[in-house]
Amino acid sequence: MRDRRHGLALAACIAAAAAVASAQKEKGATAWFGTPVPPPLSDPRKPVMNYADGFAPAPAHFAHRPGRPDELLDGAALKKDQRRIVDFSLESLAAGDAIWGRRAATPAFMHTIEWTVGELKAAGLKDASVERYQVQGTMWTPQSWKVQVVGDAAFGAGTEDVTLQSALPQAGGATIAGGSITAPVVFVGRGTDTDLAGRDVAGKIAVVHVRPEPSLFGSAEQGAAARVAARGALGVINAVEGPGNALYYDPRFACGQTPCFIVGGQDGWFLEQTIGKAATAGLLDRLKVTLALASDEKSGLTSANGVATIPGRSSKRIIVNAHADGYFQGGDDNASGLAVLVGLARYFSKRPPPAHTLMFVASGGHHGPGNGPASLLAAHPELKTDTLLVVNLEHVAYLDVVRGKTRATNNTGMVWETSVTESAKAVGVTNESPFLIDLWSRAPRCFGVATYQAPGAGVPGDLGGYRALGVPMTQMIQSGTFYHSSGDVYEAVPAEGLERAARFHAYFVEQIDQAPEALVISAKGAPYHAGRSDCSW
Ligand SMILES: [Zn+2]
Ligand SMILES: [Zn+2]
Repeated sequence: MRDRRHGLALAACIAAAAAVASAQKEKGATAWFGTPVPPPLSDPRKPVMNYADGFAPAPAHFAHRPGRPDELLDGAALKKDQRRIVDFSLESLAAGDAIWGRRAATPAFMHTIEWTVGELKAAGLKDASVERYQVQGTMWTPQSWKVQVVGDAAFGAGTEDVTLQSALPQAGGATIAGGSITAPVVFVGRGTDTDLAGRDVAGKIAVVHVRPEPSLFGSAEQGAAARVAARGALGVINAVEGPGNALYYDPRFACGQTPCFIVGGQDGWFLEQTIGKAATAGLLDRLKVTLALASDEKSGLTSANGVATIPGRSSKRIIVNAHADGYFQGGDDNASGLAVLVGLARYFSKRPPPAHTLMFVASGGHHGPGNGPASLLAAHPELKTDTLLVVNLEHVAYLDVVRGKTRATNNTGMVWETSVTESAKAVGVTNESPFLIDLWSRAPRCFGVATYQAPGAGVPGDLGGYRALGVPMTQMIQSGTFYHSSGDVYEAVPAEGLERAARFHAYFVEQIDQAPEALVISAKGAPYHAGRSDCSW
């Protein structure tokens, strides 16, 4: 069983597990119907993928313009800040936090906000401050847990219990009375009504096969665990078909108070293989899983936003937001966006005063308790009348992880590989202003930013809390293979991508600032003629 200090003991844990795995291998190929036991958890301090080959990410070619502080938007400068932000997550891992990272309202998160405010102050934004707020509601925190496939001599000589080390309990799971439950397993495919037809899950531990296509955010299996629990399953294991053996945490795969876990790719493959082989051997009724879970809810928490402005000639604001919270390293989600926010604040503080007031918000976000933007609105009623637009920076640079060129030996498709191109981002403009959409069309054309071809009106992510302002909101966002997983590491974010995102957003904010406000707030289909279609800036 993991204890609360498992972060401290992680290296020892991984080494010990590797030793167990190799010992089990030596017992011959008969244990577990000949299925190799899964490897240990992929070390969450390191990338799951290889990002260090000779084929580097597609380059960013931006000259420093005379008289402009363009060096503040260089990839190397932004990567330095992203490193610092990711380090706050590693501080949480070292402290033994169970759901580690920059989870809102935790010490590592508060340190991230304090650091951001310090950087904004140093950049000359004199009013930069940490705005604390009381969190309504509680934060679910697991204390200890275990997912173990129970060995049985009938499964082959040398079969011993296997603990799935990537298993992570999902939000809301209550402490199991008596500490643990042991029950037969039932595989339910993707957990659709079709998959569940004729399958009795009551009193069993169900396994759902989850495909992160293109991420847990886009996965069709969202909510399947809750549906299966509602049909009487004692627990659910979401087996993610992802690279390595990573940790995942996402509320859309939880199931209320029923114990629900997500396991990484290698653990999931072992579990599914074993179910299949046990069924073929007529031994499925003997295949059992033990789930253990103890958890609690923390209350009385304080979280914070980091807020600073660059006063403009008008008090009307353009808000630039990036959420500072995240799970695990959160290299892309959202150290990438926060690093670009800090870079943009430095850049604009060195420029002549803008027409509009620029308000930079490192938000308390939405990973963990509370909602940063909603708390910001409550603390700043003036935003209701004084805001022109909200620009959100979220998951702005990420090397694409794709199905590659070689078939996987476990026949789950092609082996995952990293691409030299970035994952395409979804552009959202809530009012579909033709002016804003024209500016966005220059992100790929003039700055090499990878986006989907067609923009939309949807803006998932941190902008939800700003909706009450009733003003246009815009962003680009992507959620890749390692979304909300320990594979979302520092190395997954290319310096070139950060630079492209920062350069485009500096351009974007400048163009919006200088344009007639009517163009920004104009609705879909409003007449608009682009003044200039070249890329000069
Ligand atoms: Zn997220
Ligand atoms: Zn995010």
